[in-house]
Amino acid sequence: MEIKVKKAPLKKRKAKPTDESKLGFGKIFTDHFFNVKYKDGKGWYDPVIEPYRSLKLDPTAMCLHYGQEIFEGLKAYRGPKGEIYLFRPQENIKRMNSSAERLCMPPIEDNLFMEAMKKLIILEKDWIPHGAGTSMYIRPTMIATEAALGVHPSTEYLFFIVVGPVGAYYPQGFSPTKMYVSEEYVRAVRGGIGHVKAAGNYAASLYASRIATNMGYTQVLWLDSVEKKYVEEVGTSNIFFLLGEELITPPLAGSILPGVTRNSVIALARHLQTKVVERPISIDEVITASQNGSLKEAFASGTAAVVSPVGQIHFRGKEYLINGGKTGILAEKLYNEILQIQYGLKEDPFGWRVKIAD
Ligand SMILES: *Cc1c(COP(=O)(O)O)cnc(C)c1O
Repeated sequence: MEIKVKKAPLKKRKAKPTDESKLGFGKIFTDHFFNVKYKDGKGWYDPVIEPYRSLKLDPTAMCLHYGQEIFEGLKAYRGPKGEIYLFRPQENIKRMNSSAERLCMPPIEDNLFMEAMKKLIILEKDWIPHGAGTSMYIRPTMIATEAALGVHPSTEYLFFIVVGPVGAYYPQGFSPTKMYVSEEYVRAVRGGIGHVKAAGNYAASLYASRIATNMGYTQVLWLDSVEKKYVEEVGTSNIFFLLGEELITPPLAGSILPGVTRNSVIALARHLQTKVVERPISIDEVITASQNGSLKEAFASGTAAVVSPVGQIHFRGKEYLINGGKTGILAEKLYNEILQIQYGLKEDPFGWRVKIAD
């Protein structure tokens, strides 16, 4: 399928941000976006990159009522010679299609997805910032657009991709986060949709997140929904604990999002000769280990921050410090190694980096 490109007239293009230290996250988008429509019986049709604009939706568009909405998040990185890289984009494409399957939405052909990202990023390449740690965030999204009430899978969809420059996550170096363990509210249940990137998961997480931030914590540490015993994720990231010499992360057992960064951390840690174990880990075990000193480090993993050290955990009214509230050696090592691979600053023994422009 040929992707049509309709360029925005030069005089209608936005001014690019000049101060890269003020980019922040998710506030600035470029001059163009990609979209393609779907209809049962017809498949995907009319793929186009066109000037960025509002979407036109019927008030009964099914995504607005029944939440058939999925998305992805990845980044484009600028290398030292100005070349442009993606990091494991096929993993995001695969995950988008498994999210689609779970929500009875149509899959997107890998080639169309990849071509759309490449073409859009190359068209908008001047928007990719240059500073250390900055990048271009890519947000592929699919929504149900059939105009009809009544709960059933939509017969029509829109898949679109927007991109925008984002700032460095740690402009002043690492700042370990403070976690609030939620025992009352849960993010996802086994058998539900917690293992896919569906919009509803984030709506479900807001209430507990607000409680945590109002109390001065950075994010919620989610427990399993059945026993409220096992650690699942932190905020919208996966979680790792260095217990003694072993790096432990909860297994992908149906309610945890299979993070691309999680998978990369596991592979890289093993490559660096650290033993990695995927097994259930209870909050009691974490707390006991933090008390007896065997919990050396804890950190979250996700595309936005890569690795985000956890310095403190609040559980049942008490505070527990991890590694004295400081960033751990392993977290920092993993962060630096992954970043250098992403930005083309280091050889990539895993074949994760995909160059899309010189
Ligand atoms: C996106 C996401 C992650 C991290 O996934 P990455 O592919 O590493 O960015 C982890 N948990 C949740 C709930 C997420 O939405």
